[in-house]
Amino acid sequence: MNTKKLPLAFWIFVGLVVGIVAGLALMAIPGGVDFAKTYVKPFGTIFLNLIKFIVVPIVLFSITAGIISMGDIKKLGSVGVKTIVYYMCTTAGAVIIALVLANLCKGFFPPLDKLSSGEYTAGDPVSFMDTLVNIFPANIIEPMRSASMLQVIVIAILFGVGILIAGEKGLVCAQVVDSFNEVSMKVMDLIIRLSPVGVACLLAPVVAENGPKILGALAAVLLVAYIGYVIHALAVYSFSMAALARISPVTFFREMVPAMMMAFSSASSVGTLPFTLECAEKLGARKEIASFVIPLGATINMDGTAIYQGVCAVFIASCFNIDLTLGQMVTIVLTATLASIGTAGVPGAGMVMLAMVLESVGLPVEGIGLVMGVDRIFDMGRTTVNITGDAACAVVISKMEERKEQRTRGVLG
Ligand code: ASP
Repeated sequence: MNTKKLPLAFWIFVGLVVGIVAGLALMAIPGGVDFAKTYVKPFGTIFLNLIKFIVVPIVLFSITAGIISMGDIKKLGSVGVKTIVYYMCTTAGAVIIALVLANLCKGFFPPLDKLSSGEYTAGDPVSFMDTLVNIFPANIIEPMRSASMLQVIVIAILFGVGILIAGEKGLVCAQVVDSFNEVSMKVMDLIIRLSPVGVACLLAPVVAENGPKILGALAAVLLVAYIGYVIHALAVYSFSMAALARISPVTFFREMVPAMMMAFSSASSVGTLPFTLECAEKLGARKEIASFVIPLGATINMDGTAIYQGVCAVFIASCFNIDLTLGQMVTIVLTATLASIGTAGVPGAGMVMLAMVLESVGLPVEGIGLVMGVDRIFDMGRTTVNITGDAACAVVISKMEERKEQRTRGVLG
């Protein structure tokens, strides 16, 4: 068999299996967990660092290039509005699914005395207005240095629009952006070739360290969150595909497998970006739409994170014997939707934003200590859902735009 012909997805799958098996083996042998942490984890970290290093140029140039290739502001407006509406509705739907499910399963959550709690120290609470102000950069270099993705997105949108408005005088800028975009993608391709090894080195220490905990008291909450992830993906994305994009949900999920495996192993939407872009384009998303919608989604669209926040809010309330009222649940839907927008697409970010959701309904923020020990396991699933939602949006909007163009052509012709 010619192994060179096998697709990268196959090798990533091999990396995933090797990582899990090696993690289980290391968990079983004395000193194995320390070995995994000291000698295996650093290689996973090197892989993640390489991905993080290329992410700012990818987001910056692909969003700008996407806007330029849309060609006119009207089209950008139409795609932009549809994207935001889709992202908001699916995220709110995700929290509702999570709340219903968690309330139904409340009885299975372990009592407080069975749980061990980590020490969670909440940072200074950031107000909504501060968050809003922080989206707009006062400097062009700083957001890139600190990888503040929302600010990078604002810079990309402003420059993209500027180049469109400048018309002929903006041509040189447009070519430079296009060239940088191509080069960044090629660099990303090189990094991605390392992903089978990266995936194995990321997963083995997680399995070795967390193996016993998965079977422990938190199993019920983890299970409820994962059921929520699966229900949301199957219901919302299948519906989106069948009704809005008019393609088979089976095809959608089959093509998404490489990106989903990468998201599961890396727990980073931003790190999975190139995979998500490639899978969405294979599913018929247009390049200019995917390169605008998907990097934006990797930063602001987090359906999986919203599910996790909904489930954890009910879990923490039930641990502290608090019954959430309907009003509080509505507040959770709103704040979890907003919190997921403010969550960065990197590992662990959703747990920090959970503090905002708990505070909004007066639940004890220290409750996060109950779930923080297994956050990585929640994170792998929620990231997988997050990126699937981004790709679904790109496919849906591309197909809607295509139909709109066909109708216009029909009327004109
Ligand atoms: N890790 C998630 C992501 O990258 C964010 C989160 O922590 O919820 O999408």
